[in-house]
Amino acid sequence: MKIIHISDVHCTENKNFLKYLDENEIDLVLVSGDITDFGPDEFAKDFLNKLASKTSVIAIYGNCDIETIPYVIENSKAISGHNKINLFKNVLIYGFGGSSPTPFSTPSELSEEDLYMGLNNLIDYESVVIEENSSVINKDNIIKILLTHSPPFESEADKILSGDHVGSKAVRNIINENDFDINLCGHIHEAKSISKLNKTIIANPGMLKDNYGVLITKNNDSRDFDVELVKF
Ligand SMILES: [Zn+2]
Repeated sequence: MKIIHISDVHCTENKNFLKYLDENEIDLVLVSGDITDFGPDEFAKDFLNKLASKTSVIAIYGNCDIETIPYVIENSKAISGHNKINLFKNVLIYGFGGSSPTPFSTPSELSEEDLYMGLNNLIDYESVVIEENSSVINKDNIIKILLTHSPPFESEADKILSGDHVGSKAVRNIINENDFDINLCGHIHEAKSISKLNKTIIANPGMLKDNYGVLITKNNDSRDFDVELVKF
């Protein structure tokens, strides 16, 4: 199974990416926020519906998405990933949108405390999701993906040009305290990277317009998976 992760679309559709989806067998697209640049709703709706006409899509919003965007995602042909654990073919996707505070007072920021609480409450719900889907889940074969807009603090994925780290301590703590296989994030456009925090792979593809995504290839019969940056 193949999953493509993109981020930080900021209202710029990428023809190369759409072509990539047409030419490759991709089972799922994950979008980790900042679909728009402070709106408009129409772009988010059209973009998500276009992707969803090609394959399955799960999306969350980012700090630059205004307050209507979560509803646009809910009402699009994509699946909303915010504050949910979605199960997709033995992959559990724990999604939470928005970002930790920024110096720019963007529309969808929340405090580190609220971000931590939101993520932690979501994890409490894990056993319910596994129980509800027990007939279709193969427990030996599950991988867990944390889908956030904010990257974890002090990782490769949150480093700005000055070398400072500006990611979220809440996301970092949640990763340290749990057993996620992968954290897919975005937000810091210049921090395109794949790195590791303990056992968790951290992947930030940068802005979609810069032509990169993260490809996750998972073996259907085992937990084996591979994570790589791909150029569109
Ligand atoms: Zn952002």
